[in-house]
Amino acid sequence: MFMKAPDKYEYWPTSKFLKVKCHDCMNEQVIFNKANIIVKCLICGSTLALPKGGKARVKSKVLAVVDSKYRKRERNG
Ligand SMILES: [Zn+2]
Repeated sequence: MFMKAPDKYEYWPTSKFLKVKCHDCMNEQVIFNKANIIVKCLICGSTLALPKGGKARVKSKVLAVVDSKYRKRERNG
């Protein structure tokens, strides 16, 4: 389900969910990398990602990439 995130990233080429860690409160949260709104930490309200050119610019640490294909396959059993 989770793939290891590369060391360097900023933009992802396709739609994916990213598991990120808030640098302020260490909360782990899954965000969508094509978010067109500012994504904020649910715990402390710190900005996790900013919309830019149709893709989210992730401001926080990416722990893993969640591929939607794997999610769908898992749901179907
Ligand atoms: Zn936070």
